[in-house]
Amino acid sequence: MTDNLSHLDVLISGASVAGPALALGLARYGARVTVVEKAPALRGGGFAVDFRGHVHRRVLTAMGIWDDVHAHQTHMGRQSVVDADGTPRVDLPAQMMSGDVEIFRGDLARIVYERTRDTVEYVFGDSVTALTDTPDGVEVAFERGTSRRFDLVVGADGLHSNTRRLVFGDESRYLRFFDHYVAGFSVPNHLGLDRTGRLYSEPGRCVVLGNYDGDPDRAGALLVFRSERLAYDRRDVAAHKRILAERFAGMGWETPAVLKALEETDDLYFDAIAQIHIDRLTKGRVALLGDAGYGATMGGMGTGVAIVAAHVLAGELALAGGDHRVAFAEYETRVRDFARGCQKISGNAGPFFAPATERRIRSRDRMYRMLSSRMLAGFFKRLTEKAATAIELRDYPA
Ligand SMILES: Cc1cc2nc3c(=O)[nH]c(=O)nc-3n(C[C@H](O)[C@H](O)[C@H](O)COP(=O)(O)OP(=O)(O)OC[C@H]3O[C@@H](n4cnc5c(N)ncnc54)[C@H](O)[C@@H]3O)c2cc1C
Repeated sequence: MTDNLSHLDVLISGASVAGPALALGLARYGARVTVVEKAPALRGGGFAVDFRGHVHRRVLTAMGIWDDVHAHQTHMGRQSVVDADGTPRVDLPAQMMSGDVEIFRGDLARIVYERTRDTVEYVFGDSVTALTDTPDGVEVAFERGTSRRFDLVVGADGLHSNTRRLVFGDESRYLRFFDHYVAGFSVPNHLGLDRTGRLYSEPGRCVVLGNYDGDPDRAGALLVFRSERLAYDRRDVAAHKRILAERFAGMGWETPAVLKALEETDDLYFDAIAQIHIDRLTKGRVALLGDAGYGATMGGMGTGVAIVAAHVLAGELALAGGDHRVAFAEYETRVRDFARGCQKISGNAGPFFAPATERRIRSRDRMYRMLSSRMLAGFFKRLTEKAATAIELRDYPA
């Protein structure tokens, strides 16, 4: 193992997937890494995320978490589109939706965190308030505590990145809103689902219930709805619950039970379906990683892109002996097109879940029916795999 980054102090903002994945790589090369996370503790929750193709496999292996990810994989089976009375209309084969290996986002975050907690300094419940790039480093001020200086700062703080706002400007310049919102949370498994999912749509809204891990008591609910842009406080969970309750009022199938569970839940994820489009991923000594730089909310393989990009950024810094000018330029060129390709695949996942009219729901179902044929499922799988593998990885120091 090389420790040619032992002279570097790196600050990473955000401890979900991208941040800890980069911390893992950098710490292995000897860098001193601090991760600051706004939440008071590592955040659980979120739906299942998947990995597909040889690039993801190679990166997970290099990170040393291939076996752990498999040990926690979901083994998701068939998903069906159902009528209001629960009668299946169309079935979707598992491999189309869940890649080669699927894992809950929260489990993945915990695996990478556990791997790094002894070698990386984690600061929870804090956030960066100012960044001043100087020739010798970045002066960083925090909400709590004194300022510190770091050689490099990486913003891995998600779609609504604080780092991006401080260094590159307001989010409105970079966030493309796709007319839909998504929510995910856990619910009692009252349908007795066993590694299967059910999807029910009415015009402009959709409820998915899925049991991914065989737990007889718990299932995951995913709610998608079409909407104009909403003004709300992103930290106000009660407001998110109110919005969802209003938007899903009067919807059929299992929706009343899902809304009841929503009142109780403490793991709600709620966000716009949106993408980040920004020309530069780095400026001076600051870089953006993961959703902060090229987020794609749903279906855009955001997690796969984040771990590949973290691997590339750590590897390029190691190859350049810590010279961020060289490494950041390589990171930009290698990752930008790859991330864009994955964003394109996801497009706007909203109408896929919640078509705007009954007619569109029916044509979506016809498309699902076609996709569930073996040949087209294979085509779809190849298409997503092509995007997930459209990057040439260099051999970084082991
Ligand atoms: C709790 C949670 C649930 C999710 N559920 C889903 C889901 O169901 N479906 C889906 O498609 N995607 C979901 N995502 C997003 C998904 O994790 C990402 O698309 C992908 O994994 C890339 O991850 P990321 O680390 O770049 O960004 P994210 O996973 O968004 O992580 C960003 C991290 O930065 C932290 N952060 C934000 N602001 C600050 C700040 N000012 N200072 C410090 N830290 C900050 C956040 O708390 C979070 O931990 C979820 C994310 C989270 C955090």
